[in-house]
Amino acid sequence: MRCPYCQHEDTQVMDTRASDEGDSIRRRRRCNHCDKRFTTYERIELAMPVIVKKNGSRSEFEPAKLRGSLMLALRKRPVSADAVDAAIHRIEEKLLSSGEREINSGQIGELVMRELKRLDKIAYIRFASVYRSFEDVAEFRDAVDAIDEVDSERQPAAAAREKRSG
Ligand SMILES: [Zn+2]
Repeated sequence: MRCPYCQHEDTQVMDTRASDEGDSIRRRRRCNHCDKRFTTYERIELAMPVIVKKNGSRSEFEPAKLRGSLMLALRKRPVSADAVDAAIHRIEEKLLSSGEREINSGQIGELVMRELKRLDKIAYIRFASVYRSFEDVAEFRDAVDAIDEVDSERQPAAAAREKRSG
């Protein structure tokens, strides 16, 4: 903390206490250079960072979108609702505690991948294999739908091939 009188950076905290309202911390400081005293107030500020897409557009963090994307990746997978809730909670905690005012959509994708990796390998692969080429988590949905379609078309054909070769 820089001294407001002489701009020196070497200041010392002499006393720390909560404000009467309890929503801020009051610190009495002393400048080691000019010996003047001053008081600072610290407020807790926890806010979700704004999401910045690759094209530079900004949007609010939407928990419903995050959940929708996770659920899509986890579709038909044996993962409990509690485990999904916990994963979403961890992602939100990381965003909140990052202290950043803005965060790239890609970083959220990375957080989602990390959680999916712990939850379910198949869901992780589903997400990881398609997510990287998309702007945000929401666009991932269309891609997963497309993969499902390809899978259901390919499987009977693959089975037929195996029959022929075997
Ligand atoms: Zn000073």
